[in-house]
Amino acid sequence: MVRASEVKARALKLGFTLCGIAPAGRFPELAFLREWVDRGYVGEMAYMTRTAEQRTDVRAVLPSARSVVMLATVYHVDRPYSIEHVDPTEARIARYAWGDDYHDVVGERTDALCRWMAERAGPTFDGRAYVDTGPVQERVYAQYAGLGWIGKNTCLINAERGSWLFLSEVICNLDLPPDEAALDQCGTCTLCLEACPTGALPEPWVLDATKCLSYLTIELKRDVPELQRDELGAHVFGCDICQDVCPWNSAPTQSLDAAWVPRPLFDQPRLLDLWRRSDAELRTAMKGSALRRAGVKRLRRNLAVALGNSGDLEARAVLDQTAAGAGAEERPSAHDPLVTEHVGWARRKLSSTGQG
Ligand code: SF4
Ligand code: SF4
Repeated sequence: MVRASEVKARALKLGFTLCGIAPAGRFPELAFLREWVDRGYVGEMAYMTRTAEQRTDVRAVLPSARSVVMLATVYHVDRPYSIEHVDPTEARIARYAWGDDYHDVVGERTDALCRWMAERAGPTFDGRAYVDTGPVQERVYAQYAGLGWIGKNTCLINAERGSWLFLSEVICNLDLPPDEAALDQCGTCTLCLEACPTGALPEPWVLDATKCLSYLTIELKRDVPELQRDELGAHVFGCDICQDVCPWNSAPTQSLDAAWVPRPLFDQPRLLDLWRRSDAELRTAMKGSALRRAGVKRLRRNLAVALGNSGDLEARAVLDQTAAGAGAEERPSAHDPLVTEHVGWARRKLSSTGQG
């Protein structure tokens, strides 16, 4: 027999910040996903459309599921928020991607907990461990496990820890006593909705991914629509603004975990410094990092747009050199048709702003 208190103690020992248990049920919030997809907010994330039905109940993933052990890991490290400095020549990379890839780090720990539970429970145990990888609406289960509430910015917020949390879970066939669901504490606040630079939060708790900088810089594989390029600002991978402004993140827990310490190349880098790196250097720095999801070519595409938005005299000179064929050997991605189109846009913008 495995007790809930033992599972939670083990989770903390493995490095998780929070652990709670939700019943493996169908909650009303889970049903909204289908409407969200129908509204077109999903964009080109085909995997979401494909698995929308599955995502309405964890029992579609594990038919024998009785409980969902929800886990949260704080990843906030001591660096300023993106809204605290507005240098347009500094690249903005979402906080979660500065260090090691959470899929690997948190995934290993979640697997370890699942293995431990299997050993303790014996041969009848059935369980699956996921970290943002399975067709599971983790935030909903985290809310029902008492880890926090889903904020109007759609992130899970814990009153003591803030929202810089990686979520993961073990779905299992054990009948563990569930925790009490967390209550919404956003109240009348609308700071995140007002701060979003692209209007990607058209109403509380609803994200229009097609407008979100996280989607545009990471998920979108083709060109960034021209009308949305100005809004990218200096964002080259993800966006933290709607979390930066959240009052519940004003004094967040700091993580001391070495895994989330920013890699040197992604520690408040200048746009031009990233641009000047060879493809091989970027690839090496991205190895084992969440930035792999964008890959070198898309990162380069985003950098071109951000350089166009930077108003930086030097950037124009560098992009002019690229357009003339410079660096083709060490930076072949800069000469890929997808990227060259964005380089062209950036050069035109830098000329037209009159600052170049
Ligand atoms: S991540 Fe950025 S673009 Fe997306 S909803 Fe939040 S503030 Fe808006
Ligand atoms: S900024 Fe305000 S409304 Fe938005 S998630 Fe935070 S508390 Fe909720």
